[in-house]
Amino acid sequence: MRAVDIIEKKRDGVELSKDEINFFIKGYTHDEIPDYQASAWAMAVLLNGMSPEETTHLTLAMADSGDQLDLSGVVDIAVDKHSSGGVGDKTSIAVVPLVRACGLPVGKMSGRGLGFSGGTLDKLESIPGFRTDLTKDEFLNQLGSIGMVLSGQSVDLAPADGKLYALRDVTGTVRSIPLIASSIMSKKIAAGAQAIVLDVKVGNGAFMETLEEASKLASLMVSIGKLSGRDVAAVLSDMNQPLGEAVGNSLEMKEAIITLQGQGPADFVEHCLEIASHMLVLGKRARSTSEARQMAQSAIDSGSGFEYLKVLVAAQGGDVNFIDHPENLPKALFKEVVEAHRAGYIHEINARQVGETAVLLGAGRSKKDDEIDLAVGISVFVKVGDLVEAGQPIFLVHANDELSLKKAEISLNEAIRIEDHVLQPLPLFYGLVTSD
Ligand code: URA
Repeated sequence: MRAVDIIEKKRDGVELSKDEINFFIKGYTHDEIPDYQASAWAMAVLLNGMSPEETTHLTLAMADSGDQLDLSGVVDIAVDKHSSGGVGDKTSIAVVPLVRACGLPVGKMSGRGLGFSGGTLDKLESIPGFRTDLTKDEFLNQLGSIGMVLSGQSVDLAPADGKLYALRDVTGTVRSIPLIASSIMSKKIAAGAQAIVLDVKVGNGAFMETLEEASKLASLMVSIGKLSGRDVAAVLSDMNQPLGEAVGNSLEMKEAIITLQGQGPADFVEHCLEIASHMLVLGKRARSTSEARQMAQSAIDSGSGFEYLKVLVAAQGGDVNFIDHPENLPKALFKEVVEAHRAGYIHEINARQVGETAVLLGAGRSKKDDEIDLAVGISVFVKVGDLVEAGQPIFLVHANDELSLKKAEISLNEAIRIEDHVLQPLPLFYGLVTSD
Protein backbone atom coordinates (compact mmCIF):
# COMPACT_ATOMS: atom_id res chain seq x y z
CA MET A 1 0.00 0.00 0.00
CA ARG A 2 1.20 3.53 -0.73
CA ALA A 3 0.10 6.74 0.99
CA VAL A 4 -0.13 8.57 -2.36
CA ASP A 5 -2.69 6.09 -3.70
CA ILE A 6 -4.85 6.59 -0.60
CA ILE A 7 -4.62 10.39 -0.98
CA GLU A 8 -5.59 10.15 -4.68
CA LYS A 9 -8.51 7.87 -3.89
CA LYS A 10 -9.86 10.35 -1.35
CA ARG A 11 -9.16 13.24 -3.76
CA ASP A 12 -11.38 11.46 -6.31
CA GLY A 13 -14.17 11.00 -3.77
CA VAL A 14 -13.81 7.23 -3.43
CA GLU A 15 -14.55 5.57 -0.07
CA LEU A 16 -11.46 4.28 1.76
CA SER A 17 -11.35 0.78 3.23
CA LYS A 18 -10.62 -0.06 6.86
CA ASP A 19 -7.19 -1.42 5.85
CA GLU A 20 -6.30 1.75 3.97
CA ILE A 21 -7.31 3.97 6.90
CA ASN A 22 -5.41 1.77 9.37
CA PHE A 23 -2.34 1.84 7.13
CA PHE A 24 -2.47 5.62 6.84
CA ILE A 25 -2.99 6.32 10.57
CA LYS A 26 -0.37 3.79 11.67
CA GLY A 27 2.13 5.15 9.15
CA TYR A 28 1.48 8.74 10.20
CA THR A 29 1.74 7.94 13.93
CA HIS A 30 5.09 6.23 13.42
CA ASP A 31 6.49 9.02 11.20
CA GLU A 32 6.54 6.75 8.15
CA ILE A 33 4.05 9.01 6.39
CA PRO A 34 5.26 12.64 6.39
CA ASP A 35 3.24 15.71 7.36
CA TYR A 36 2.91 16.87 3.73
CA GLN A 37 1.11 13.69 2.75
CA ALA A 38 -1.07 13.73 5.87
CA SER A 39 -2.05 17.35 5.16
CA ALA A 40 -2.95 16.57 1.55
CA TRP A 41 -5.06 13.68 2.81
CA ALA A 42 -6.75 15.81 5.50
CA MET A 43 -7.61 18.44 2.86
CA ALA A 44 -9.05 15.73 0.59
CA VAL A 45 -11.21 14.56 3.53
CA LEU A 46 -12.28 18.13 4.26
CA LEU A 47 -13.32 18.66 0.63
CA ASN A 48 -14.88 15.26 -0.12
CA GLY A 49 -16.10 14.13 3.31
CA MET A 50 -16.20 10.61 4.71
CA SER A 51 -19.00 8.10 5.16
CA PRO A 52 -19.99 7.11 8.73
CA GLU A 53 -18.21 3.74 8.14
CA GLU A 54 -14.95 5.44 7.05
CA THR A 55 -15.19 7.87 9.98
CA THR A 56 -15.67 4.93 12.37
CA HIS A 57 -12.57 3.18 10.95
CA LEU A 58 -10.63 6.42 11.40
CA THR A 59 -11.91 6.83 14.97
CA LEU A 60 -10.96 3.30 15.97
CA ALA A 61 -7.56 3.54 14.25
CA MET A 62 -6.79 6.72 16.21
CA ALA A 63 -8.15 5.24 19.48
CA ASP A 64 -5.84 2.26 18.90
CA SER A 65 -2.74 4.42 18.33
CA GLY A 66 -1.84 4.70 22.05
CA ASP A 67 -2.87 3.57 25.52
CA GLN A 68 -6.46 2.47 26.07
CA LEU A 69 -8.14 2.32 29.45
CA ASP A 70 -10.16 -0.75 30.28
CA LEU A 71 -12.68 0.15 32.98
CA SER A 72 -14.66 -3.06 32.72
CA GLY A 73 -13.01 -4.62 35.78
CA VAL A 74 -13.77 -1.51 37.84
CA VAL A 75 -17.31 -0.45 36.90
CA ASP A 76 -20.25 -2.37 35.46
CA ILE A 77 -20.72 0.20 32.69
CA ALA A 78 -18.39 3.06 31.82
CA VAL A 79 -20.44 6.15 30.96
CA ASP A 80 -18.61 9.31 29.94
CA LYS A 81 -19.74 12.78 29.01
CA HIS A 82 -18.14 15.25 26.66
CA SER A 83 -18.87 18.89 26.01
CA SER A 84 -17.68 20.50 22.82
CA GLY A 85 -16.70 23.46 24.99
CA GLY A 86 -18.08 26.87 25.73
CA VAL A 87 -18.30 29.86 28.06
CA GLY A 88 -19.40 29.24 31.65
CA ASP A 89 -19.61 25.48 31.14
CA LYS A 90 -18.87 23.96 34.55
CA THR A 91 -21.30 21.08 34.02
CA SER A 92 -18.92 18.15 34.68
CA ILE A 93 -18.07 19.46 38.16
CA ALA A 94 -21.72 19.35 39.22
CA VAL A 95 -22.88 16.38 37.16
CA VAL A 96 -20.23 13.80 38.11
CA PRO A 97 -21.10 13.87 41.87
CA LEU A 98 -24.78 14.19 41.00
CA VAL A 99 -24.95 10.99 38.93
CA ARG A 100 -22.67 9.26 41.43
CA ALA A 101 -25.23 10.10 44.12
CA CYS A 102 -27.78 8.33 41.89
CA GLY A 103 -25.61 5.20 41.82
CA LEU A 104 -23.72 5.73 38.55
CA PRO A 105 -19.92 5.66 38.78
CA VAL A 106 -17.99 7.99 36.43
CA GLY A 107 -14.28 8.14 35.76
CA LYS A 108 -13.74 11.20 33.63
CA MET A 109 -10.67 12.69 32.00
CA SER A 110 -11.12 16.39 31.42
CA GLY A 111 -9.14 19.12 29.75
CA ARG A 112 -7.89 22.67 30.23
CA GLY A 113 -9.25 25.85 28.74
CA LEU A 114 -7.88 27.27 25.52
CA GLY A 115 -8.93 30.56 23.95
CA PHE A 116 -12.39 31.83 24.91
CA SER A 117 -13.50 28.38 26.04
CA GLY A 118 -12.86 27.31 29.67
CA GLY A 119 -11.64 23.92 30.95
CA THR A 120 -12.80 21.75 33.85
CA LEU A 121 -9.30 21.09 35.25
CA ASP A 122 -8.55 24.80 35.65
CA LYS A 123 -11.82 25.32 37.51
CA LEU A 124 -11.15 22.39 39.86
CA GLU A 125 -7.66 23.70 40.60
CA SER A 126 -9.17 26.75 42.29
CA ILE A 127 -9.71 24.39 45.27
CA PRO A 128 -6.40 24.45 47.19
CA GLY A 129 -4.65 21.08 47.06
CA PHE A 130 -6.92 19.51 44.43
CA ARG A 131 -4.87 17.17 42.23
CA THR A 132 -5.72 16.84 38.55
CA ASP A 133 -2.62 14.78 37.70
CA LEU A 134 -3.64 11.33 38.94
CA THR A 135 -1.64 8.42 37.55
CA LYS A 136 -3.43 5.65 35.69
CA ASP A 137 -3.32 3.45 38.81
CA GLU A 138 -4.60 6.24 41.05
CA PHE A 139 -7.39 6.90 38.54
CA LEU A 140 -8.47 3.25 38.50
CA ASN A 141 -8.14 2.79 42.28
CA GLN A 142 -10.20 5.88 43.03
CA LEU A 143 -12.87 4.89 40.52
CA GLY A 144 -13.03 1.49 42.22
CA SER A 145 -13.15 2.88 45.76
CA ILE A 146 -15.41 5.93 45.57
CA GLY A 147 -16.89 5.57 42.06
CA MET A 148 -15.83 9.03 40.84
CA VAL A 149 -12.79 10.65 39.27
CA LEU A 150 -12.31 14.03 37.59
CA SER A 151 -8.71 14.23 36.47
CA GLY A 152 -6.45 15.15 33.57
CA GLN A 153 -5.26 12.76 30.89
CA SER A 154 -3.05 10.26 32.73
CA VAL A 155 -2.33 8.07 29.74
CA ASP A 156 -1.36 8.82 26.17
CA LEU A 157 -4.87 8.77 24.68
CA ALA A 158 -5.10 8.64 20.89
CA PRO A 159 -1.65 10.12 20.09
CA ALA A 160 -2.49 9.91 16.36
CA ASP A 161 -5.24 12.43 17.01
CA GLY A 162 -2.86 14.74 18.89
CA LYS A 163 -0.44 14.70 15.96
CA LEU A 164 -3.12 15.07 13.32
CA TYR A 165 -4.91 17.85 15.23
CA ALA A 166 -1.69 19.90 15.44
CA LEU A 167 -1.28 19.47 11.68
CA ARG A 168 -4.92 20.35 10.95
CA ASP A 169 -4.53 23.48 13.05
CA VAL A 170 -1.91 24.89 10.65
CA THR A 171 -3.26 23.52 7.36
CA GLY A 172 -6.83 24.86 7.39
CA THR A 173 -8.31 21.42 7.98
CA VAL A 174 -9.84 21.73 11.44
CA ARG A 175 -13.34 22.50 10.15
CA SER A 176 -14.12 19.08 8.76
CA ILE A 177 -17.03 17.31 10.42
CA PRO A 178 -15.63 13.74 9.98
CA LEU A 179 -12.22 14.87 11.27
CA ILE A 180 -13.76 16.61 14.31
CA ALA A 181 -16.12 13.70 15.04
CA SER A 182 -13.34 11.10 14.85
CA SER A 183 -11.02 13.30 16.92
CA ILE A 184 -13.52 13.62 19.78
CA MET A 185 -14.76 10.03 19.68
CA SER A 186 -11.27 8.47 19.45
CA LYS A 187 -10.29 10.06 22.79
CA LYS A 188 -13.52 9.00 24.51
CA ILE A 189 -13.20 5.41 23.25
CA ALA A 190 -9.51 5.23 24.27
CA ALA A 191 -10.55 6.48 27.74
CA GLY A 192 -12.71 3.36 28.08
CA ALA A 193 -16.20 4.76 27.43
CA GLN A 194 -18.90 2.23 26.63
CA ALA A 195 -21.61 4.87 26.57
CA ILE A 196 -21.22 8.59 25.97
CA VAL A 197 -23.42 11.66 26.44
CA LEU A 198 -22.25 14.36 24.07
CA ASP A 199 -23.11 17.98 24.76
CA VAL A 200 -22.72 19.63 21.36
CA LYS A 201 -22.84 23.40 21.80
CA VAL A 202 -24.31 25.65 19.16
CA GLY A 203 -23.70 29.35 18.81
CA ASN A 204 -21.16 32.14 18.74
CA GLY A 205 -19.43 30.85 21.89
CA ALA A 206 -19.08 27.34 20.47
CA PHE A 207 -17.00 25.47 17.96
CA MET A 208 -20.11 24.90 15.81
CA GLU A 209 -21.82 28.21 15.14
CA THR A 210 -24.90 26.96 13.28
CA LEU A 211 -27.51 24.38 14.21
CA GLU A 212 -27.03 22.71 10.84
CA GLU A 213 -23.30 22.10 11.44
CA ALA A 214 -23.85 21.04 15.05
CA SER A 215 -26.61 18.58 14.05
CA LYS A 216 -24.38 17.02 11.39
CA LEU A 217 -21.55 16.63 13.90
CA ALA A 218 -23.89 15.16 16.52
CA SER A 219 -25.44 12.68 14.05
CA LEU A 220 -22.06 11.54 12.82
CA MET A 221 -20.79 10.95 16.36
CA VAL A 222 -23.94 9.00 17.22
CA SER A 223 -23.37 6.87 14.06
CA ILE A 224 -19.75 6.24 15.05
CA GLY A 225 -21.05 5.09 18.42
CA LYS A 226 -23.52 2.71 16.84
CA LEU A 227 -21.00 1.28 14.36
CA SER A 228 -18.40 0.80 17.10
CA GLY A 229 -20.79 -0.72 19.66
CA ARG A 230 -21.07 2.30 21.97
CA ASP A 231 -24.35 3.82 23.07
CA VAL A 232 -24.25 7.56 22.33
CA ALA A 233 -26.78 10.34 22.94
CA ALA A 234 -26.01 13.86 21.75
CA VAL A 235 -27.71 16.91 23.23
CA LEU A 236 -27.64 20.08 21.10
CA SER A 237 -27.41 22.99 23.55
CA ASP A 238 -27.25 26.75 23.22
CA MET A 239 -23.96 28.63 23.49
CA ASN A 240 -24.97 32.04 22.16
CA GLN A 241 -24.94 33.41 25.71
CA PRO A 242 -22.86 32.19 28.68
CA LEU A 243 -24.18 29.19 30.60
CA GLY A 244 -25.17 30.10 34.17
CA GLU A 245 -23.99 33.32 35.78
CA ALA A 246 -20.30 32.66 36.36
CA VAL A 247 -17.42 32.86 33.88
CA GLY A 248 -13.92 32.36 35.31
CA ASN A 249 -12.35 29.53 37.27
CA SER A 250 -13.08 30.03 40.99
CA LEU A 251 -16.36 31.79 40.16
CA GLU A 252 -17.46 28.74 38.17
CA MET A 253 -16.28 26.37 40.87
CA LYS A 254 -18.43 28.29 43.34
CA GLU A 255 -21.42 28.11 40.98
CA ALA A 256 -21.04 24.33 40.65
CA ILE A 257 -20.98 24.05 44.47
CA ILE A 258 -24.06 26.20 45.07
CA THR A 259 -25.87 24.32 42.29
CA LEU A 260 -25.38 21.10 44.25
CA GLN A 261 -26.70 22.97 47.31
CA GLY A 262 -29.90 23.75 45.40
CA GLN A 263 -29.10 27.41 44.74
CA GLY A 264 -27.81 27.33 41.18
CA PRO A 265 -29.00 29.61 38.37
CA ALA A 266 -32.06 28.18 36.60
CA ASP A 267 -30.44 27.63 33.17
CA PHE A 268 -27.41 25.86 34.62
CA VAL A 269 -29.51 23.66 36.92
CA GLU A 270 -31.67 22.69 33.94
CA HIS A 271 -28.58 21.94 31.87
CA CYS A 272 -27.14 19.69 34.60
CA LEU A 273 -30.43 17.82 35.03
CA GLU A 274 -30.64 17.20 31.27
CA ILE A 275 -27.08 15.88 30.95
CA ALA A 276 -27.34 13.85 34.17
CA SER A 277 -30.61 12.27 33.06
CA HIS A 278 -29.15 11.02 29.75
CA MET A 279 -26.12 9.65 31.62
CA LEU A 280 -28.37 7.79 34.06
CA VAL A 281 -30.41 6.26 31.23
CA LEU A 282 -27.34 5.19 29.22
CA GLY A 283 -25.82 3.87 32.46
CA LYS A 284 -28.98 1.82 33.08
CA ARG A 285 -29.74 3.48 36.42
CA ALA A 286 -33.10 4.76 35.15
CA ARG A 287 -35.61 3.48 32.61
CA SER A 288 -36.55 6.86 31.22
CA THR A 289 -35.20 10.39 31.18
CA SER A 290 -38.14 11.56 33.30
CA GLU A 291 -37.36 8.98 36.00
CA ALA A 292 -33.66 9.91 35.75
CA ARG A 293 -34.44 13.58 36.03
CA GLN A 294 -36.39 13.02 39.24
CA MET A 295 -33.47 11.03 40.64
CA ALA A 296 -31.02 13.82 39.82
CA GLN A 297 -33.36 16.48 41.22
CA SER A 298 -33.69 14.46 44.47
CA ALA A 299 -29.88 14.23 44.70
CA ILE A 300 -29.79 18.05 44.64
CA ASP A 301 -32.73 18.44 47.06
CA SER A 302 -31.39 15.93 49.60
CA GLY A 303 -27.84 17.31 49.43
CA SER A 304 -26.41 13.90 48.47
CA GLY A 305 -24.84 15.31 45.27
CA PHE A 306 -23.15 17.99 47.37
CA GLU A 307 -21.87 15.35 49.83
CA TYR A 308 -20.41 13.35 46.93
CA LEU A 309 -18.61 16.46 45.65
CA LYS A 310 -16.91 16.66 49.06
CA VAL A 311 -15.96 12.97 48.83
CA LEU A 312 -14.47 13.60 45.37
CA VAL A 313 -12.53 16.68 46.47
CA ALA A 314 -11.16 14.91 49.57
CA ALA A 315 -10.10 11.86 47.51
CA GLN A 316 -8.09 14.09 45.17
CA GLY A 317 -6.33 15.99 47.96
CA GLY A 318 -8.47 19.13 47.88
CA ASP A 319 -9.35 21.14 50.99
CA VAL A 320 -13.01 20.32 51.66
CA ASN A 321 -13.43 23.46 53.80
CA PHE A 322 -13.60 25.39 50.52
CA ILE A 323 -16.59 23.32 49.42
CA ASP A 324 -18.38 24.12 52.68
CA HIS A 325 -17.29 27.75 52.38
CA PRO A 326 -16.99 28.58 48.67
CA GLU A 327 -16.84 32.27 49.60
CA ASN A 328 -13.21 31.55 50.59
CA LEU A 329 -12.18 30.40 47.10
CA PRO A 330 -9.66 32.72 45.37
CA LYS A 331 -11.08 36.26 44.99
CA ALA A 332 -9.99 39.14 42.79
CA LEU A 333 -8.81 42.48 44.20
CA PHE A 334 -11.06 44.71 42.12
CA LYS A 335 -14.77 44.45 41.37
CA GLU A 336 -16.66 46.76 39.08
CA VAL A 337 -20.27 46.70 37.90
CA VAL A 338 -21.07 47.19 34.21
CA GLU A 339 -24.51 48.78 33.95
CA ALA A 340 -27.13 48.75 31.21
CA HIS A 341 -26.50 51.88 29.10
CA ARG A 342 -30.22 52.12 28.31
CA ALA A 343 -33.58 50.54 29.14
CA GLY A 344 -34.97 47.79 26.92
CA TYR A 345 -34.82 44.08 26.17
CA ILE A 346 -31.57 42.17 26.14
CA HIS A 347 -31.05 40.95 22.58
CA GLU A 348 -27.50 39.68 22.87
CA ILE A 349 -24.92 38.71 25.48
CA ASN A 350 -22.28 37.52 23.05
CA ALA A 351 -20.81 34.39 24.63
CA ARG A 352 -17.62 34.51 22.60
CA GLN A 353 -16.96 38.13 23.53
CA VAL A 354 -17.62 37.38 27.22
CA GLY A 355 -15.23 34.41 26.99
CA GLU A 356 -12.60 36.57 25.30
CA THR A 357 -13.02 39.19 28.00
CA ALA A 358 -12.35 36.49 30.62
CA VAL A 359 -9.11 35.64 28.77
CA LEU A 360 -8.19 39.33 28.72
CA LEU A 361 -8.65 39.40 32.51
CA GLY A 362 -6.29 36.42 32.81
CA ALA A 363 -8.86 33.64 33.41
CA GLY A 364 -7.94 31.78 30.21
CA ARG A 365 -5.06 31.06 27.90
CA SER A 366 -4.18 32.50 24.52
CA LYS A 367 -1.45 29.86 24.16
CA LYS A 368 -1.31 26.35 25.59
CA ASP A 369 1.37 27.11 28.20
CA ASP A 370 0.07 30.49 29.46
CA GLU A 371 -0.34 30.90 33.25
CA ILE A 372 -3.89 31.65 34.35
CA ASP A 373 -5.40 33.65 37.20
CA LEU A 374 -7.96 31.52 39.05
CA ALA A 375 -9.65 34.45 40.80
CA VAL A 376 -10.67 36.68 37.90
CA GLY A 377 -13.75 36.51 35.71
CA ILE A 378 -17.20 37.87 35.08
CA SER A 379 -20.57 37.46 36.78
CA VAL A 380 -23.43 37.75 34.31
CA PHE A 381 -26.71 38.93 35.84
CA VAL A 382 -29.05 38.84 32.84
CA LYS A 383 -30.24 36.53 30.06
CA VAL A 384 -31.34 37.21 26.51
CA GLY A 385 -34.99 38.31 26.57
CA ASP A 386 -34.79 40.04 30.00
CA LEU A 387 -36.24 43.54 30.35
CA VAL A 388 -33.74 45.89 32.01
CA GLU A 389 -33.75 49.48 33.22
CA ALA A 390 -31.01 51.97 32.42
CA GLY A 391 -28.29 51.65 35.06
CA GLN A 392 -29.27 48.10 36.05
CA PRO A 393 -26.22 45.87 36.74
CA ILE A 394 -25.52 43.59 33.78
CA PHE A 395 -22.05 42.26 34.63
CA LEU A 396 -19.68 42.30 37.58
CA VAL A 397 -16.04 42.26 36.52
CA HIS A 398 -13.59 40.53 38.89
CA ALA A 399 -10.05 41.75 38.06
CA ASN A 400 -6.63 41.71 39.64
CA ASP A 401 -5.31 44.86 37.97
CA GLU A 402 -6.89 48.14 37.04
CA LEU A 403 -5.81 48.16 33.41
CA SER A 404 -7.46 44.84 32.57
CA LEU A 405 -10.50 45.94 34.58
CA LYS A 406 -10.93 48.97 32.30
CA LYS A 407 -10.35 46.91 29.15
CA ALA A 408 -12.88 44.33 30.34
CA GLU A 409 -15.54 46.98 30.91
CA ILE A 410 -15.13 48.25 27.34
CA SER A 411 -15.19 44.74 25.94
CA LEU A 412 -18.31 43.76 27.91
CA ASN A 413 -20.16 46.85 26.74
CA GLU A 414 -19.54 45.57 23.21
CA ALA A 415 -20.83 42.10 24.15
CA ILE A 416 -24.28 43.34 25.11
CA ARG A 417 -27.06 44.61 22.86
CA ILE A 418 -30.25 46.15 24.24
CA GLU A 419 -33.19 47.01 21.96
CA ASP A 420 -36.72 48.37 22.35
CA HIS A 421 -38.67 45.38 21.09
CA VAL A 422 -39.50 42.25 23.03
CA LEU A 423 -37.38 39.16 22.33
CA GLN A 424 -38.14 35.60 23.42
CA PRO A 425 -35.56 33.94 25.69
CA LEU A 426 -33.06 31.71 23.88
CA PRO A 427 -33.83 28.00 24.11
CA LEU A 428 -31.47 25.98 26.30
CA PHE A 429 -31.63 23.01 23.93
CA TYR A 430 -32.19 22.59 20.21
CA GLY A 431 -32.65 18.84 20.14
CA LEU A 432 -31.43 15.39 20.99
CA VAL A 433 -29.76 12.94 18.61
CA THR A 434 -29.82 9.23 19.47
CA SER A 435 -29.34 6.09 17.43
CA ASP A 436 -33.02 5.01 17.76
N1 URA B 1 -12.14 19.07 19.62
C1 URA B 1 -11.42 17.96 19.38
O1 URA B 1 -11.11 17.20 20.29
N2 URA B 1 -11.05 17.71 18.12
C2 URA B 1 -11.37 18.49 17.07
O2 URA B 1 -11.02 18.19 15.94
C3 URA B 1 -12.11 19.65 17.34
C4 URA B 1 -12.51 19.91 18.63
